[in-house]
Amino acid sequence: MEKKRILSGMRPTGKLHIGHYVGALENWVKLQDEYENFHLIADYHVLTTDLNTDDVYQNTIDMLIDWLAAGLDPVKSPMFRQSQIKEHTELYLIFTMLITAARLERNPTVKEQVRSLHIENITYGHLGYPVLQAADILLYRGNAVPVGEDQVPHVEITREISRRFNNVYGKVFPEPEPLLTKFARLPGLDGDAKMSKSLGNTILLSDEPELVQKKLRKAKTDPQKVRRNDPGRPEVCLIFKYQQKFNPDEIEEIEAGCRSGELGCADCKMKCTAKINEFLAPIIEKRKYYEEKNDLVLEILADGEKRAKAEAVKTMEIVRSQMKLG
Ligand code: ATP
Ligand code: MG
Repeated sequence: MEKKRILSGMRPTGKLHIGHYVGALENWVKLQDEYENFHLIADYHVLTTDLNTDDVYQNTIDMLIDWLAAGLDPVKSPMFRQSQIKEHTELYLIFTMLITAARLERNPTVKEQVRSLHIENITYGHLGYPVLQAADILLYRGNAVPVGEDQVPHVEITREISRRFNNVYGKVFPEPEPLLTKFARLPGLDGDAKMSKSLGNTILLSDEPELVQKKLRKAKTDPQKVRRNDPGRPEVCLIFKYQQKFNPDEIEEIEAGCRSGELGCADCKMKCTAKINEFLAPIIEKRKYYEEKNDLVLEILADGEKRAKAEAVKTMEIVRSQMKLG
């Protein structure tokens, strides 16, 4: 039986943080044997929030290295830039006719970005963010999309566009499902609900041990736990969330210690720092390997783009034939 397909991507906005990892990348790595994976570098999507493209190339390389360092296998999982495969824009244009402007205006992620980035007048392309994403996914006829929780509304829009296309022109596309991890929304160091580059509350996959220690030392904990022996509430503490993820073996002990007041925040943070650094060590090592092999990284990208292009061409042949466009 043919393997099901995964299509998932990220915008090249710089080095990745542990939120990207636990929300999406970890799943990509885990699923690369069970599925046929395609991973997209969304360098057109970057334009929705930043027209300055000076850093996009370097960010692309940095992100690719993070992907490889985290365990994506370039033989199993082609990695490629959206901007290099013109079929994305063609399918996107067709899809823009299959969804209403009102539906896109209701998209909660756009509303959230408009609020947090103080956008006064949204562009046509920004509103169309999920339509381009639908084209990204369906161009490879992806069945599953491993993403963080914030992306679920976009997968829903993809499903709607897929259904609409199939109804009008005959069945071409699957209706992809989101694949969520247990930590589909990792909070940021400042206690914000989401770790996010634009909020500056991140731990990067490339952060060295001393930096992780410094960042965690400053992180917010339960405001009611002022002194060491005050009882704490793990459910409101982001360090506890990180412990759940990176230190599951000690989690019961930590929870009991926090609640009783026996475990102080400083000690708790120290344990957490050690575990996060333990997790990051092999990634940092692998990252250094790829940083020194620029040619290899570029070869991986070129190979991924060749393989993605072949699939994209196949899908567009079917689309054009179903639509009787040549
Ligand atoms: P940021 O949100 O840090 O600015 P970004 O907007 O450039 O990053 P996206 O391309 O939106 O990154 O996200 C890439 C993937 O990582 C998506 O699947 C998203 O759901 C996931 N992700 C990002 N931040 C988190 C988080 N804090 N917790 C869980 N998953 C996350
Ligand atoms: Mg984001």
